[in-house]
Amino acid sequence: MDAQPLLTAESTKTLLQTMINNKTVRKKIISFIEQKSYQDAIEVNSDNRPRQVQEDRHDYSMALLHGFLRAFELGQISKHGIDRLMEIFLSKVVMNKESEEASCSLGLDLPFFLVISPTGKCNLKCTGCYATSDSSQKVSLDFNTFDRILTEKRELWGSHFTAISGGEPLLWRDGKFDFLDMIERHSNNMFMFYTNGTLITDEVAKRMAELGNVTPAISVEGFEEETDARRGKGTYTRIMNALESLKKYGVFFGISVTPTKYNWEVATSDRLVDFYFMQQGAVYGWLFQYMPIGRGQTLDLMVTPEQRVEMYKRMVRIVRERKVFLADFWNSGTAAGGCLSAGRKGGYYYIDWHGNVTPCVFIPYAADNIHRIYKSGGNINTPLKSSFFKKINTWQDEYGYRQPAEKLDNWLCPCVIRDHFGVFREAAIKSNAKPINEEAAIALNDSDYCTGMINYGEELKRLTDPIWIKEYLSTAVSRDEDQQAVLSAT
Ligand code: SF4
Repeated sequence: MDAQPLLTAESTKTLLQTMINNKTVRKKIISFIEQKSYQDAIEVNSDNRPRQVQEDRHDYSMALLHGFLRAFELGQISKHGIDRLMEIFLSKVVMNKESEEASCSLGLDLPFFLVISPTGKCNLKCTGCYATSDSSQKVSLDFNTFDRILTEKRELWGSHFTAISGGEPLLWRDGKFDFLDMIERHSNNMFMFYTNGTLITDEVAKRMAELGNVTPAISVEGFEEETDARRGKGTYTRIMNALESLKKYGVFFGISVTPTKYNWEVATSDRLVDFYFMQQGAVYGWLFQYMPIGRGQTLDLMVTPEQRVEMYKRMVRIVRERKVFLADFWNSGTAAGGCLSAGRKGGYYYIDWHGNVTPCVFIPYAADNIHRIYKSGGNINTPLKSSFFKKINTWQDEYGYRQPAEKLDNWLCPCVIRDHFGVFREAAIKSNAKPINEEAAIALNDSDYCTGMINYGEELKRLTDPIWIKEYLSTAVSRDEDQQAVLSAT
Protein backbone atom coordinates (compact mmCIF):
# COMPACT_ATOMS: atom_id res chain seq x y z
CA MET A 1 0.00 0.00 0.00
CA ASP A 2 1.45 3.33 -1.05
CA ALA A 3 0.27 5.38 1.92
CA GLN A 4 1.43 8.93 2.45
CA PRO A 5 2.03 9.94 6.08
CA LEU A 6 -0.20 12.78 7.21
CA LEU A 7 2.73 14.57 8.84
CA THR A 8 5.88 15.30 6.87
CA ALA A 9 9.26 16.02 8.46
CA GLU A 10 9.03 19.69 7.60
CA SER A 11 5.45 20.19 8.80
CA THR A 12 6.16 18.39 12.08
CA LYS A 13 9.32 20.40 12.64
CA THR A 14 7.48 23.67 12.05
CA LEU A 15 4.70 22.60 14.38
CA LEU A 16 7.11 21.62 17.14
CA GLN A 17 9.12 24.82 16.84
CA THR A 18 5.96 26.89 17.13
CA MET A 19 4.87 24.81 20.10
CA ILE A 20 8.18 25.26 21.89
CA ASN A 21 8.30 29.00 21.37
CA ASN A 22 4.72 29.86 22.15
CA LYS A 23 3.09 28.69 25.36
CA THR A 24 -0.41 29.71 24.36
CA VAL A 25 -0.55 27.49 21.29
CA ARG A 26 1.35 24.54 22.81
CA LYS A 27 -1.74 22.72 24.07
CA LYS A 28 -3.58 23.04 20.78
CA ILE A 29 -0.62 21.84 18.77
CA ILE A 30 -0.14 18.81 21.00
CA SER A 31 -3.75 17.89 20.48
CA PHE A 32 -3.32 18.37 16.71
CA ILE A 33 -0.22 16.13 16.64
CA GLU A 34 -2.05 13.48 18.66
CA GLN A 35 -4.96 13.47 16.24
CA LYS A 36 -2.71 13.29 13.19
CA SER A 37 -0.55 10.55 14.67
CA TYR A 38 -3.67 8.57 15.53
CA GLN A 39 -5.02 8.96 12.00
CA ASP A 40 -1.70 7.89 10.54
CA ALA A 41 -1.43 4.83 12.78
CA ILE A 42 -5.05 3.70 12.75
CA GLU A 43 -6.63 4.94 9.56
CA VAL A 44 -3.68 4.86 7.19
CA ASN A 45 -2.13 1.79 8.90
CA SER A 46 0.36 1.27 6.09
CA ASP A 47 1.76 -1.87 7.77
CA ASN A 48 -1.69 -3.49 7.86
CA ARG A 49 -1.52 -4.47 11.52
CA PRO A 50 -4.39 -5.19 13.94
CA ARG A 51 -5.95 -2.01 15.18
CA GLN A 52 -4.81 -2.52 18.78
CA VAL A 53 -1.19 -3.02 17.66
CA GLN A 54 -1.41 0.34 15.91
CA GLU A 55 -3.01 1.92 18.96
CA ASP A 56 -0.13 0.65 21.10
CA ARG A 57 2.39 2.19 18.70
CA HIS A 58 0.52 5.47 18.78
CA ASP A 59 0.33 5.40 22.59
CA TYR A 60 4.08 4.85 22.96
CA SER A 61 4.88 7.64 20.47
CA MET A 62 2.62 10.06 22.30
CA ALA A 63 4.03 9.04 25.67
CA LEU A 64 7.52 9.89 24.38
CA LEU A 65 6.31 13.24 23.09
CA HIS A 66 4.78 14.00 26.50
CA GLY A 67 8.05 12.94 28.15
CA PHE A 68 9.91 15.57 26.15
CA LEU A 69 7.25 18.15 26.97
CA ARG A 70 7.41 17.47 30.70
CA ALA A 71 11.20 17.79 30.68
CA PHE A 72 10.92 20.97 28.64
CA GLU A 73 8.37 22.46 31.00
CA LEU A 74 10.58 21.56 33.97
CA GLY A 75 13.33 23.57 32.21
CA GLN A 76 15.49 20.46 31.83
CA ILE A 77 16.35 20.59 28.13
CA SER A 78 18.70 23.35 27.05
CA LYS A 79 17.96 25.53 24.02
CA HIS A 80 20.92 23.93 22.24
CA GLY A 81 19.58 20.49 23.23
CA ILE A 82 16.21 21.30 21.62
CA ASP A 83 17.87 22.50 18.42
CA ARG A 84 19.93 19.31 18.23
CA LEU A 85 16.84 17.20 18.92
CA MET A 86 15.12 18.80 15.94
CA GLU A 87 18.19 18.53 13.78
CA ILE A 88 19.04 14.89 14.50
CA PHE A 89 16.37 13.01 16.41
CA LEU A 90 13.36 14.40 14.58
CA SER A 91 14.79 14.91 11.09
CA LYS A 92 17.16 11.98 10.87
CA VAL A 93 15.77 9.37 13.26
CA VAL A 94 11.98 9.79 13.54
CA MET A 95 11.46 10.98 9.98
CA ASN A 96 14.29 8.93 8.49
CA LYS A 97 14.04 8.47 4.73
CA GLU A 98 17.66 7.46 4.09
CA SER A 99 17.13 4.00 5.50
CA GLU A 100 14.47 3.06 2.93
CA GLU A 101 16.61 4.48 0.12
CA ALA A 102 19.67 2.50 1.30
CA SER A 103 17.58 -0.65 1.52
CA CYS A 104 16.28 -0.19 -2.06
CA SER A 105 19.70 0.49 -3.50
CA LEU A 106 21.26 -2.57 -1.80
CA GLY A 107 18.26 -4.82 -2.34
CA LEU A 108 18.52 -5.84 1.32
CA ASP A 109 16.24 -5.42 4.32
CA LEU A 110 18.22 -3.24 6.69
CA PRO A 111 18.20 -2.79 10.46
CA PHE A 112 17.31 0.59 11.86
CA PHE A 113 20.09 0.73 14.45
CA LEU A 114 22.87 -1.11 16.25
CA VAL A 115 23.63 -1.70 19.89
CA ILE A 116 27.37 -1.57 20.52
CA SER A 117 29.19 -2.28 23.78
CA PRO A 118 32.59 -0.72 23.19
CA THR A 119 34.07 -1.86 26.49
CA GLY A 120 33.62 -4.65 29.00
CA LYS A 121 35.15 -2.54 31.77
CA CYS A 122 32.91 -1.43 34.60
CA ASN A 123 33.56 0.30 37.90
CA LEU A 124 30.69 -1.65 39.56
CA LYS A 125 30.06 -5.37 39.96
CA CYS A 126 26.29 -5.83 39.95
CA THR A 127 24.52 -9.01 40.89
CA GLY A 128 23.37 -10.91 37.80
CA CYS A 129 25.04 -8.56 35.28
CA TYR A 130 24.02 -9.82 31.79
CA ALA A 131 27.43 -8.73 30.48
CA THR A 132 29.47 -10.14 33.39
CA SER A 133 31.24 -6.77 33.53
CA ASP A 134 33.54 -5.53 36.30
CA SER A 135 36.89 -3.83 36.82
CA SER A 136 38.83 -7.01 35.94
CA GLN A 137 37.58 -6.86 32.32
CA LYS A 138 40.24 -5.25 30.19
CA VAL A 139 38.92 -5.70 26.66
CA SER A 140 37.54 -2.85 24.54
CA LEU A 141 36.95 -2.20 20.87
CA ASP A 142 39.83 -0.19 19.40
CA PHE A 143 39.21 3.27 17.99
CA ASN A 144 39.39 2.23 14.33
CA THR A 145 36.89 -0.60 14.68
CA PHE A 146 34.42 1.41 16.77
CA ASP A 147 34.70 4.36 14.38
CA ARG A 148 34.34 2.19 11.28
CA ILE A 149 31.20 0.49 12.58
CA LEU A 150 29.57 3.86 13.23
CA THR A 151 30.64 5.23 9.84
CA GLU A 152 29.37 2.18 7.95
CA LYS A 153 26.10 2.26 9.83
CA ARG A 154 25.42 5.74 8.54
CA GLU A 155 26.82 5.25 5.05
CA LEU A 156 25.44 1.78 4.29
CA TRP A 157 22.18 1.84 6.23
CA GLY A 158 21.33 5.55 6.45
CA SER A 159 21.02 4.92 10.19
CA HIS A 160 21.37 7.84 12.58
CA PHE A 161 20.55 6.17 15.90
CA THR A 162 22.92 4.07 18.01
CA ALA A 163 22.42 2.53 21.42
CA ILE A 164 25.54 1.98 23.50
CA SER A 165 25.67 -0.58 26.26
CA GLY A 166 28.41 -2.13 28.30
CA GLY A 167 30.40 -2.44 30.52
CA GLU A 168 30.31 1.21 31.47
CA PRO A 169 30.54 3.23 28.22
CA LEU A 170 32.12 6.24 29.95
CA LEU A 171 35.17 4.04 30.65
CA TRP A 172 35.85 3.49 26.95
CA ARG A 173 39.05 5.11 25.77
CA ASP A 174 41.66 4.43 23.08
CA GLY A 175 44.75 6.61 23.36
CA LYS A 176 43.68 10.24 23.50
CA PHE A 177 40.08 9.49 22.39
CA ASP A 178 37.43 8.99 25.03
CA PHE A 179 33.79 7.97 24.66
CA LEU A 180 32.47 11.52 24.27
CA ASP A 181 35.12 12.25 21.61
CA MET A 182 33.61 9.42 19.58
CA ILE A 183 30.13 10.90 20.07
CA GLU A 184 31.47 14.24 18.84
CA ARG A 185 33.06 12.62 15.79
CA HIS A 186 29.67 11.21 14.78
CA SER A 187 27.72 14.35 15.39
CA ASN A 188 24.85 13.52 12.99
CA ASN A 189 24.03 10.39 14.98
CA MET A 190 21.84 10.34 18.09
CA PHE A 191 23.35 8.18 20.82
CA MET A 192 21.55 6.71 23.79
CA PHE A 193 23.89 5.03 26.23
CA TYR A 194 23.12 2.76 29.16
CA THR A 195 25.19 3.82 32.13
CA ASN A 196 25.39 3.19 35.83
CA GLY A 197 25.49 6.99 36.18
CA THR A 198 28.25 7.05 38.77
CA LEU A 199 30.75 8.74 36.43
CA ILE A 200 28.47 11.59 35.36
CA THR A 201 29.93 14.67 37.00
CA ASP A 202 29.21 18.34 36.27
CA GLU A 203 32.07 18.31 33.79
CA VAL A 204 30.76 15.24 31.92
CA ALA A 205 27.19 16.61 31.87
CA LYS A 206 28.42 19.95 30.53
CA ARG A 207 30.26 18.20 27.72
CA MET A 208 27.18 16.14 26.84
CA ALA A 209 25.10 19.32 26.76
CA GLU A 210 27.54 20.93 24.34
CA LEU A 211 27.41 17.88 22.05
CA GLY A 212 23.60 17.66 22.12
CA ASN A 213 23.45 14.27 20.36
CA VAL A 214 23.71 12.04 23.41
CA THR A 215 21.33 10.97 26.14
CA PRO A 216 22.12 8.69 29.10
CA ALA A 217 19.73 5.96 30.27
CA ILE A 218 20.67 5.59 33.91
CA SER A 219 20.31 2.25 35.65
CA VAL A 220 18.24 2.16 38.81
CA GLU A 221 16.57 -0.82 40.43
CA GLY A 222 13.81 1.18 42.09
CA PHE A 223 14.88 3.43 44.95
CA GLU A 224 17.86 3.48 47.32
CA GLU A 225 17.27 0.11 48.95
CA GLU A 226 16.81 -1.86 45.71
CA THR A 227 19.53 0.01 43.79
CA ASP A 228 22.22 -0.28 46.45
CA ALA A 229 21.32 -3.92 47.11
CA ARG A 230 22.18 -4.87 43.51
CA ARG A 231 24.74 -2.23 42.55
CA GLY A 232 26.59 -1.57 45.78
CA LYS A 233 26.20 0.74 48.76
CA GLY A 234 26.28 4.45 47.93
CA THR A 235 25.40 3.93 44.23
CA TYR A 236 21.96 5.54 44.58
CA THR A 237 23.40 8.72 46.08
CA ARG A 238 25.89 8.98 43.22
CA ILE A 239 23.04 8.51 40.73
CA MET A 240 21.04 11.32 42.35
CA ASN A 241 24.10 13.58 42.03
CA ALA A 242 24.35 12.62 38.34
CA LEU A 243 20.69 13.59 37.78
CA GLU A 244 21.37 16.99 39.33
CA SER A 245 24.32 17.54 36.98
CA LEU A 246 22.28 16.54 33.93
CA LYS A 247 19.42 18.86 34.91
CA LYS A 248 21.82 21.71 35.62
CA TYR A 249 23.17 21.59 32.04
CA GLY A 250 19.91 20.66 30.31
CA VAL A 251 20.72 17.13 29.11
CA PHE A 252 17.61 15.00 28.68
CA PHE A 253 17.86 11.54 30.18
CA GLY A 254 16.00 8.31 30.82
CA ILE A 255 16.13 5.46 33.28
CA SER A 256 16.69 1.77 32.88
CA VAL A 257 15.43 -0.81 35.38
CA THR A 258 16.00 -4.56 35.63
CA PRO A 259 12.84 -6.12 37.08
CA THR A 260 13.32 -9.45 38.82
CA LYS A 261 10.95 -11.67 40.73
CA TYR A 262 11.68 -9.45 43.73
CA ASN A 263 11.54 -5.84 42.49
CA TRP A 264 9.04 -5.99 39.60
CA GLU A 265 6.33 -4.28 41.65
CA VAL A 266 8.42 -1.26 42.49
CA ALA A 267 9.74 -1.16 38.90
CA THR A 268 6.20 -0.71 37.57
CA SER A 269 4.77 1.33 40.43
CA ASP A 270 3.13 4.76 40.39
CA ARG A 271 5.69 5.75 43.03
CA LEU A 272 8.52 5.11 40.58
CA VAL A 273 6.69 7.00 37.81
CA ASP A 274 5.96 9.92 40.13
CA PHE A 275 9.55 10.23 41.26
CA TYR A 276 11.63 9.63 38.14
CA PHE A 277 9.28 10.95 35.46
CA MET A 278 7.13 13.60 37.11
CA GLN A 279 9.65 15.01 39.61
CA GLN A 280 13.06 14.28 38.12
CA GLY A 281 11.97 14.79 34.50
CA ALA A 282 13.14 11.52 32.93
CA VAL A 283 11.91 11.53 29.32
CA TYR A 284 11.91 7.75 28.78
CA GLY A 285 12.36 4.52 30.71
CA TRP A 286 13.32 0.97 29.77
CA LEU A 287 12.47 -2.19 31.64
CA PHE A 288 14.89 -5.04 30.96
CA GLN A 289 13.42 -7.99 32.78
CA TYR A 290 16.20 -10.05 34.31
CA MET A 291 17.44 -12.50 31.69
CA PRO A 292 19.19 -15.67 32.90
CA ILE A 293 22.45 -15.06 31.04
CA GLY A 294 25.84 -13.84 32.23
CA ARG A 295 27.15 -13.68 35.79
CA GLY A 296 25.39 -16.10 38.14
CA GLN A 297 22.64 -16.91 35.62
CA THR A 298 19.60 -18.39 37.32
CA LEU A 299 16.00 -18.91 36.32
CA ASP A 300 15.02 -18.13 39.92
CA LEU A 301 15.44 -14.37 39.47
CA MET A 302 13.20 -14.12 36.39
CA VAL A 303 9.79 -12.54 36.81
CA THR A 304 7.28 -15.38 36.63
CA PRO A 305 4.80 -15.57 33.73
CA GLU A 306 2.04 -14.41 36.12
CA GLN A 307 4.13 -11.44 37.25
CA ARG A 308 4.95 -10.60 33.66
CA VAL A 309 1.23 -10.43 32.77
CA GLU A 310 0.66 -8.16 35.75
CA MET A 311 3.57 -5.98 34.61
CA TYR A 312 1.98 -5.77 31.15
CA LYS A 313 -1.31 -4.55 32.64
CA ARG A 314 0.45 -1.94 34.74
CA MET A 315 2.46 -0.71 31.77
CA VAL A 316 -0.61 -0.41 29.58
CA ARG A 317 -2.03 1.96 32.17
CA ILE A 318 1.20 3.91 32.68
CA VAL A 319 1.70 4.46 28.94
CA ARG A 320 -1.92 5.12 27.98
CA GLU A 321 -3.23 6.99 30.97
CA ARG A 322 -0.19 8.66 32.46
CA LYS A 323 1.48 9.23 29.07
CA VAL A 324 4.81 7.99 30.33
CA PHE A 325 7.16 6.17 27.95
CA LEU A 326 8.06 3.12 30.04
CA ALA A 327 8.86 0.40 27.52
CA ASP A 328 9.76 -3.21 28.10
CA PHE A 329 11.79 -5.24 25.58
CA TRP A 330 9.27 -8.06 26.01
CA ASN A 331 5.93 -6.67 27.14
CA SER A 332 6.06 -3.85 24.58
CA GLY A 333 6.41 -6.33 21.71
CA THR A 334 3.24 -5.09 20.03
CA ALA A 335 4.55 -1.53 19.73
CA ALA A 336 7.89 -2.77 18.39
CA GLY A 337 6.31 -5.05 15.78
CA GLY A 338 7.57 -8.20 17.52
CA CYS A 339 11.16 -9.34 18.02
CA LEU A 340 13.64 -6.78 16.66
CA SER A 341 16.72 -8.98 16.73
CA ALA A 342 19.05 -10.45 14.08
CA GLY A 343 19.10 -7.29 11.98
CA ARG A 344 15.45 -7.62 10.97
CA LYS A 345 14.09 -4.83 8.79
CA GLY A 346 13.67 -1.90 11.16
CA GLY A 347 15.37 -3.87 13.96
CA TYR A 348 18.93 -4.20 15.14
CA TYR A 349 21.83 -6.44 16.07
CA TYR A 350 24.55 -6.28 18.69
CA ILE A 351 28.35 -6.02 18.73
CA ASP A 352 30.26 -6.47 21.99
CA TRP A 353 33.75 -5.38 23.12
CA HIS A 354 35.35 -8.56 21.75
CA GLY A 355 33.76 -7.82 18.39
CA ASN A 356 31.23 -10.67 18.77
CA VAL A 357 28.21 -10.09 16.55
CA THR A 358 25.06 -11.46 18.14
CA PRO A 359 21.37 -11.09 17.18
CA CYS A 360 20.48 -9.21 20.37
CA VAL A 361 22.03 -7.95 23.59
CA PHE A 362 20.16 -10.77 25.34
CA ILE A 363 21.34 -13.54 23.00
CA PRO A 364 24.87 -14.50 24.08
CA TYR A 365 25.60 -16.54 20.94
CA ALA A 366 27.55 -15.08 18.02
CA ALA A 367 27.01 -15.42 14.29
CA ASP A 368 30.41 -13.91 13.58
CA ASN A 369 33.05 -11.47 14.82
CA ILE A 370 33.49 -7.96 13.43
CA HIS A 371 37.30 -8.18 13.52
CA ARG A 372 37.20 -11.34 11.40
CA ILE A 373 34.63 -9.78 9.08
CA TYR A 374 36.77 -6.70 8.49
CA LYS A 375 39.91 -8.76 7.98
CA SER A 376 38.19 -10.84 5.33
CA GLY A 377 36.89 -7.83 3.40
CA GLY A 378 33.33 -7.76 4.77
CA ASN A 379 31.32 -4.98 6.33
CA ILE A 380 28.39 -4.56 8.70
CA ASN A 381 26.08 -6.13 6.10
CA THR A 382 27.97 -9.44 6.33
CA PRO A 383 26.20 -10.75 9.49
CA LEU A 384 22.81 -10.10 7.85
CA LYS A 385 23.57 -12.96 5.48
CA SER A 386 24.63 -15.42 8.21
CA SER A 387 22.73 -18.65 8.66
CA PHE A 388 22.06 -17.85 12.36
CA PHE A 389 20.47 -14.48 11.61
CA LYS A 390 18.56 -15.89 8.63
CA LYS A 391 17.05 -18.67 10.74
CA ILE A 392 15.83 -16.15 13.31
CA ASN A 393 14.52 -13.85 10.54
CA THR A 394 12.55 -16.75 9.05
CA TRP A 395 10.94 -17.44 12.42
CA GLN A 396 10.17 -13.72 12.91
CA ASP A 397 8.50 -13.57 9.47
CA GLU A 398 6.43 -16.70 10.02
CA TYR A 399 5.48 -15.78 13.57
CA GLY A 400 4.02 -12.48 12.49
CA TYR A 401 6.27 -9.91 10.97
CA ARG A 402 5.33 -10.85 7.39
CA GLN A 403 1.87 -12.20 8.17
CA PRO A 404 -1.43 -10.50 7.43
CA ALA A 405 -3.09 -8.91 10.46
CA GLU A 406 -5.46 -11.81 11.15
CA LYS A 407 -2.64 -14.40 11.13
CA LEU A 408 -0.29 -12.62 13.48
CA ASP A 409 0.83 -14.86 16.33
CA ASN A 410 0.90 -13.63 19.91
CA TRP A 411 3.19 -10.58 20.19
CA LEU A 412 2.72 -10.57 23.95
CA CYS A 413 5.33 -13.36 23.85
CA PRO A 414 7.55 -12.00 21.08
CA CYS A 415 11.00 -13.11 22.21
CA VAL A 416 12.81 -15.81 20.32
CA ILE A 417 15.10 -16.67 23.25
CA ARG A 418 13.02 -15.96 26.35
CA ASP A 419 9.56 -16.97 25.12
CA HIS A 420 10.43 -19.57 22.42
CA PHE A 421 13.58 -21.16 23.75
CA GLY A 422 13.07 -24.40 21.78
CA VAL A 423 12.98 -22.48 18.50
CA PHE A 424 16.01 -20.48 19.53
CA ARG A 425 18.09 -23.46 20.66
CA GLU A 426 17.49 -25.29 17.39
CA ALA A 427 18.48 -22.21 15.36
CA ALA A 428 21.66 -21.74 17.43
CA ILE A 429 22.71 -25.38 17.20
CA LYS A 430 21.89 -25.85 13.51
CA SER A 431 23.76 -22.72 12.51
CA ASN A 432 26.68 -23.49 14.79
CA ALA A 433 26.37 -20.17 16.66
CA LYS A 434 29.24 -19.63 19.11
CA PRO A 435 28.54 -19.06 22.83
CA ILE A 436 30.26 -15.80 23.79
CA ASN A 437 30.99 -16.86 27.36
CA GLU A 438 31.16 -19.92 29.56
CA GLU A 439 27.69 -19.40 30.99
CA ALA A 440 26.15 -19.40 27.50
CA ALA A 441 27.95 -22.63 26.58
CA ILE A 442 26.62 -24.29 29.73
CA ALA A 443 23.05 -23.06 29.23
CA LEU A 444 22.59 -24.59 25.80
CA ASN A 445 23.33 -28.09 27.10
CA ASP A 446 21.87 -27.88 30.59
CA SER A 447 18.63 -29.85 30.64
CA ASP A 448 17.23 -28.02 33.71
CA TYR A 449 17.91 -24.67 32.09
CA CYS A 450 16.43 -25.70 28.72
CA THR A 451 13.33 -27.31 30.26
CA GLY A 452 12.82 -24.35 32.59
CA MET A 453 12.98 -21.88 29.70
CA ILE A 454 10.62 -23.92 27.51
CA ASN A 455 8.11 -24.30 30.36
CA TYR A 456 8.30 -20.55 31.00
CA GLY A 457 7.39 -19.81 27.36
CA GLU A 458 4.50 -22.28 27.34
CA GLU A 459 3.02 -20.90 30.53
CA LEU A 460 3.34 -17.34 29.28
CA LYS A 461 1.55 -18.27 26.06
CA ARG A 462 -1.26 -19.93 28.02
CA LEU A 463 -1.74 -16.78 30.11
CA THR A 464 -1.47 -14.24 27.30
CA ASP A 465 -3.29 -15.96 24.41
CA PRO A 466 -6.72 -14.91 25.75
CA ILE A 467 -5.61 -11.26 25.91
CA TRP A 468 -4.02 -11.46 22.47
CA ILE A 469 -7.08 -13.03 20.84
CA LYS A 470 -9.61 -10.77 22.52
CA GLU A 471 -7.69 -7.51 22.39
CA TYR A 472 -5.53 -7.71 19.33
CA LEU A 473 -6.98 -10.19 16.87
CA SER A 474 -10.56 -9.12 17.28
CA THR A 475 -11.37 -6.43 14.75
CA ALA A 476 -14.46 -5.26 16.57
CA VAL A 477 -12.99 -4.33 19.93
CA SER A 478 -12.90 -0.68 20.88
CA ARG A 479 -10.21 0.47 23.32
CA ASP A 480 -12.51 1.78 26.02
CA GLU A 481 -14.68 -0.17 28.49
CA ASP A 482 -14.39 -3.56 26.78
CA GLN A 483 -10.64 -3.42 26.89
CA GLN A 484 -10.35 -2.41 30.51
CA ALA A 485 -12.84 -5.15 31.40
CA VAL A 486 -10.76 -7.90 29.83
CA LEU A 487 -7.55 -6.59 31.34
CA SER A 488 -9.00 -6.65 34.83
CA ALA A 489 -10.66 -10.03 34.29
CA THR A 490 -7.53 -11.83 33.11
S1 SF4 B 1 15.48 -11.61 21.08
FE1 SF4 B 1 14.03 -11.02 22.69
S2 SF4 B 1 15.02 -9.35 23.77
FE2 SF4 B 1 16.06 -9.57 21.78
S3 SF4 B 1 14.99 -8.17 20.37
FE3 SF4 B 1 14.00 -10.18 20.19
S4 SF4 B 1 12.28 -10.00 21.65
FE4 SF4 B 1 13.73 -8.42 22.20
